[in-house]
Amino acid sequence: MIEIRGKCGTVCNTCSFKDRLGCKGCEAQQGKIFWGECDVYKCAVSKGCQHCGLCAQLPCQQLLDFIENGHNPDRLPNLNRWKNESQ
Ligand code: SF4
Ligand code: SF4
Repeated sequence: MIEIRGKCGTVCNTCSFKDRLGCKGCEAQQGKIFWGECDVYKCAVSKGCQHCGLCAQLPCQQLLDFIENGHNPDRLPNLNRWKNESQ
């Protein structure tokens, strides 16, 4: 499976919300998803990062707070895996 990679570390094509709520994924939605505008998406775009795994500040406090309050515990492991792939 080719991963659709969300900037926060979510693999969009395995996300349980995708089909249920008609989300097309992080990039296709440009960070505007069912619960509002995503600050992590906006931050990564402002830094020119394809995803947070390519950001020098990984893992910043904003991202850690976001992950802690979210539904997906795989985000940080995914980001670290993607970071390692790029090195
Ligand atoms: S939560 Fe934000 S960064 Fe993560 S996949 Fe959704 S829009 Fe993208
Ligand atoms: S500063 Fe944090 S939220 Fe922003 S791109 Fe970097 S790791 Fe992601």
